[in-house]
Amino acid sequence: MTDTTSAGTTNAGTTDAGTGHTDATRATAVGTAAAAVFEELYGHAPEGVWAAPGRVNLIGEHTDYNDGFVLPIAIPQAVRAHARRRTDGVLRLASTRVPGEVVELDVAALEPGGVPGWAAYPAAVVWALRSAGHEVGGADVLLDSDVPGGAGLSSSAALECAVATAYDGLYGLGLGAAELALLAQRAENEFVGVPCGIMDQMASMVCRSGAALHLDARDLSVRHVPLDLAGAGLTLLVLDTRVQHDLADGAYAALRAGCERAAALLGLPALRDLSVDGLPGALGRLPADLVPLVRHVVTENDRVERAVAELERRGPAALGPILTEGHASLRDDFRTSCPETDLAAATAVAAGALGARMTGGGFGGSVIALVETERAAAVAEAVTGAFAAAGYAEPQVYRAVPSPGARRES
Ligand code: ADP
Ligand code: MG
Repeated sequence: MTDTTSAGTTNAGTTDAGTGHTDATRATAVGTAAAAVFEELYGHAPEGVWAAPGRVNLIGEHTDYNDGFVLPIAIPQAVRAHARRRTDGVLRLASTRVPGEVVELDVAALEPGGVPGWAAYPAAVVWALRSAGHEVGGADVLLDSDVPGGAGLSSSAALECAVATAYDGLYGLGLGAAELALLAQRAENEFVGVPCGIMDQMASMVCRSGAALHLDARDLSVRHVPLDLAGAGLTLLVLDTRVQHDLADGAYAALRAGCERAAALLGLPALRDLSVDGLPGALGRLPADLVPLVRHVVTENDRVERAVAELERRGPAALGPILTEGHASLRDDFRTSCPETDLAAATAVAAGALGARMTGGGFGGSVIALVETERAAAVAEAVTGAFAAAGYAEPQVYRAVPSPGARRES
């Protein structure tokens, strides 16, 4: 147990278990392999490679679709889109994660719901661009990713943003990052059918290295808040519980609908317009089933604002208690946690983490734990041990450092 855990922790963001590759050498090795796969599949070289990262959200869960605030960072793991324009209106899609499959589509015939499986995500972006009036045609695309899928790290937004950025570059559209993020969100909402908010796509497009992104989901205004974890002697662990969520299964949509119903009953444009001070009065006017939802959203928005203030005033360690408070709210009020995420968060805190919470849409996925770097291995080991004792799958452990958003790589 000790061996596995410490290997997992050392592995996290620094070396690749089993190969001993550093992240940088692994990225090169993976990139080179993908370039060869592209040539083999399509018979020519790509025109370029565009990358867009996954994210972890520090605080502000289920607030974006309530017009509220979020505070994500981009992670080093990214989706890379190797791409080349085609002049015949054909979109060919492949992914190194789905070896041997090339999905061929006619861009003019793309329709919401019309593309099954993983190819819906990249096809959706091309559809969204064309629906918005951008004159884009076909392409040969190969996706290559080290963002784990379904782990709450937003591989779907990373994929969409990589394709959106690639198309922007290939077709010289010159669209802004926020515009591409909105198109990617529309792609996921309307074409794939997942009613996600705007956080994931904005984080993937806009985040900067060394900073958290304070985003106002109502007007998309952003502030890059410096976050020097290493300088503060801290590590942000990502504990992937390996419990796969399925946000398309209706639970997320039901929560979102509940929030919108509550805002309507209160006569507000969105729950963002309710303050913590106004909460007690408002809760008395709501049916019992909506009370905990509203309490979570309103206190969570407040936690984002407090987190930014604390970060700027006292530094990253001050985020700890706010993370733990946020987890309790997701567990007890919003009810999007599950036994595995609860165990990971509680064990991390008991083992000395400054704070821990589930991150992402919920029903599984990943937990983040803010720890003093010298305690990181012990905390990861405690969580791995607790999972083994509970009979759960071994969690995957990463270290998250605030990384840059979408960019052209070559
Ligand atoms: P999350 O965004 O939290 O990772 P989602 O369920 O929203 O989880 O998105 C995961 C889906 O995105 C996968 O089921 C798959 O369809 C698609 N996907 C993500 N990464 C890749 C990839 N590298 N290649 C192909 N499809 C991918
Ligand atoms: Mg997703």
